Amino acid sequence: MGKANRGKYLRRLPNRGRGTCPVCHATGIKLLYTQHTSDGKELKVCKRCSKASQERIDQAASQ
Ligand SMILES: [Zn+2]
Repeated sequence: MGKANRGKYLRRLPNRGRGTCPVCHATGIKLLYTQHTSDGKELKVCKRCSKASQERIDQAASQ
């Protein structure tokens, strides 16, 4: 793929791909990474949280 999270693609996203990360609660951050909770839900997270543990993803999803 390459550069899937850059440029024009971002403008098509709501709020240009920015928002509040459900895992680390950073605001105005680009939520470009999809993580899956252990029950199969998709969660959009920031770059930092793309490497977060499953535990943190699940915790964020349950809030
Ligand atoms: Zn985050």
